[in-house]
Amino acid sequence: MAEKLLIRALKGGKSTRIITLNGKKMKKMPSALEKLTHLKTLNLQNNLIPKVCPEVSALTQLTTLNLGNNLLKEVPKEMKYLISLKKLHLFGNKIHSFEAEACDGLQNLTLLNLNNNQLTDIPKEVKRLKRLTHLSINHNQLASIPRELCFLKNLSELQLNYNQIVYLPKEINFLKKLEKLHLARNNIEVLPQEICHLRNLRLLDIAGNIIQIFPPRFQNLKLREFYCEGNPLFLKEPVKAVNQYAVWSLQEIISRYVMKELARNNPILTEAIQWYPQIRNILSKARKCAICGEFFLTVWLECVKFVPPHKNWKISKNLQLLPLQVLICSYKCFSQRGSNLFGIAQL
Ligand SMILES: [Zn+2]
Repeated sequence: MAEKLLIRALKGGKSTRIITLNGKKMKKMPSALEKLTHLKTLNLQNNLIPKVCPEVSALTQLTTLNLGNNLLKEVPKEMKYLISLKKLHLFGNKIHSFEAEACDGLQNLTLLNLNNNQLTDIPKEVKRLKRLTHLSINHNQLASIPRELCFLKNLSELQLNYNQIVYLPKEINFLKKLEKLHLARNNIEVLPQEICHLRNLRLLDIAGNIIQIFPPRFQNLKLREFYCEGNPLFLKEPVKAVNQYAVWSLQEIISRYVMKELARNNPILTEAIQWYPQIRNILSKARKCAICGEFFLTVWLECVKFVPPHKNWKISKNLQLLPLQVLICSYKCFSQRGSNLFGIAQL
């Protein structure tokens, strides 16, 4: 049956644009493909294909390739020849390796679907897929994503549900066009504060992670849908903070002094700091006290403020109050906090 269809396609020769051989129990890709150089769409889903054949290198005009539900073990380097490819479906295979070289030629790819595979990592070269708008890697075994993935500045939807991701790169805010971020059922404990800068984000799904608290300014996100059930979120219950006085390191004391003086435009320090890029770099990591507004570097007290979720957000039913992280410079400021700030007991 499959052969008949292919023979018919071959008779069409160069004029053949679409081939669909769905569910034909094929055990290999037809090598005759190399003659169909004008092919635009090739659908080979639901077969038993274990390998991409070298003949695909002739398909330089192919825009859609569907190899979903086959037996592939890798995203092979042969993909680099598919220079016109826009949509690549590789879901439901046994892919555990993603050849970096595959990214070299896929300059026009907009959609990549790798759902239901066995990937443990994604190559850094993914950043070469510059036109990518939709990337879906649900149900794999990713423990992390490379920071280079955040350089895909056209990405509007990123699906990473059901993996083992522990943290997100802080470069996440480079994904300026990101509208949908799916991170359900991972092992994320902390969301980077940079996530609050994703101005176009409309859907965030972090259900089933181990998040207790959200970064400051999380409320600024212009979400429409927010799912967070199945996280051990802090509840609004007063926690007694142990009142103790931390001993600051010399670096912390000096940093705080320098930052205070810089904020006051101390002319000598403002001039001097220009000659010390390393120090500027260290100080750039400073954070601001929510009470007194002064800066600190490595020592702070973590508190939680509960705010109602934004009224425009469509949210998980169980969420009444959003726990937001608030950082405070010292116990002195902690004792001056308002009644809406709760200390977090350090266990
Ligand atoms: Zn303070």
